[in-house]
Amino acid sequence: MKLRVVVLGAGFGGLEVMSLLSDALGDNLDLVLLDRSDTFYFGYSKLDVTFGRLNPDAVKIPYRHIQKPGVRFVQAMVTNIDPKARRVTTDQGVFDADVLVIALGADYAPEKTPGLVEGGNEYYSFAGALKLRDKVPMFTRGHAIVGVCAPSFKCPPAPSEAALLLHDNLVARGVRENCTISLVMPFHIPIPPSPAISTALLEAFAERDIAYVKDSLISAVDATRRVVSLNDGRELPCDLLLAIPTHRVPDVVEASGLAVDGWIPVHKHTLETRFANVYAIGDVTSVGTAKSGGFAETQGAVVAAEIIAQFRGEPMPSGYDGTSGCYVEFGSGRIGRVDVDFFSGPQPTGTFRDATIEMAQEKKEFGATRRAKWFGLRA
Ligand SMILES: Cc1cc2nc3c(=O)[nH]c(=O)nc-3n(C[C@H](O)[C@H](O)[C@H](O)COP(=O)(O)OP(=O)(O)OC[C@H]3O[C@@H](n4cnc5c(N)ncnc54)[C@H](O)[C@@H]3O)c2cc1C
Repeated sequence: MKLRVVVLGAGFGGLEVMSLLSDALGDNLDLVLLDRSDTFYFGYSKLDVTFGRLNPDAVKIPYRHIQKPGVRFVQAMVTNIDPKARRVTTDQGVFDADVLVIALGADYAPEKTPGLVEGGNEYYSFAGALKLRDKVPMFTRGHAIVGVCAPSFKCPPAPSEAALLLHDNLVARGVRENCTISLVMPFHIPIPPSPAISTALLEAFAERDIAYVKDSLISAVDATRRVVSLNDGRELPCDLLLAIPTHRVPDVVEASGLAVDGWIPVHKHTLETRFANVYAIGDVTSVGTAKSGGFAETQGAVVAAEIIAQFRGEPMPSGYDGTSGCYVEFGSGRIGRVDVDFFSGPQPTGTFRDATIEMAQEKKEFGATRRAKWFGLRA
């Protein structure tokens, strides 16, 4: 009997589960991979799009490239999840499974910040990045703000990266001296688990005259008066806003009753939900790590190993250890890396690899290996 697996969401987490299950189980597998979109793109490519560094079409990877044994990709909107029956309803039909893996990521709620939809811009969605791609080149004078709207957001380094890349963009266009850049962050330092990378980022901001506005959130946008309000009541002048909007689970997850306090709770080592043979991984969970592609991918690998062991009647693998990392753009073509361990100690701890030009090649290889293993594409 083939093992019927339905993977909801073909992002970092879902693609990793799909790929490892196919490699291990091949024709013993009947896996349906569902996503509403027809293309994948790495989260970090939204920075490339926002700042015009890459053509939007160049960063898209169509799911039709997935040709793996035992796997069928179906482009479909998931409209209902019944975790007890392990039944998934979509606009393309109903799918029943022996094992469900929910990897639907985080959606955005920009409407939660008054004035943001009408008068601001966010670069966290692909559509938002596309809009900014047209707006950033028009900004030649005034106050730019990169700002976070709610405390829980994916890729904690991404706001710092955007501020540094905006600086590069303004310098390249010869207008930097006409503009200010402020970074509004809910943390005392940019990446709290790693004081070392935070110090390096704060130094990079100081060198470039980027103001770090600590322990703050953007609470409202007033495009008419050209100001943003912060959660402590202060106002900052703002002519260009690159916002990180409030995050939330996709509607279908909310409606399924799987979420508690906003996100899907899972066992922190096995990533099981409270329903038998239903796992959740990545940004959609409250597992306690950062929301980032690296963590979603590692969680996908853990879940795949558990499903394979269970299918073969082998001992369960050791489980998720709460570690992963990501590359961080420092501007001027330099890239660093931070790795964080969320589970070993009472507080998360991070290690930092210095930003260098050479690391840009390593980040490229990171992308190339994922294109190869998930899509069978060579560089
Ligand atoms: C600007 C920016 C920069 C980033 N940089 C990095 C980085 O350098 N390194 C890093 O590791 N991470 C980075 N990230 C974060 C990273 O992209 C996410 O954390 C990661 O994609 C999460 O993986 P996931 O599998 O949990 O969810 P996702 O990759 O978001 O995948 C979820 C999938 O579910 C699909 N979906 C949702 N709802 C439905 C539905 N109802 N029906 C069907 N399909 C649905 C979506 O279309 C999506 O494809 C960045 C993010 C941003 C925004």
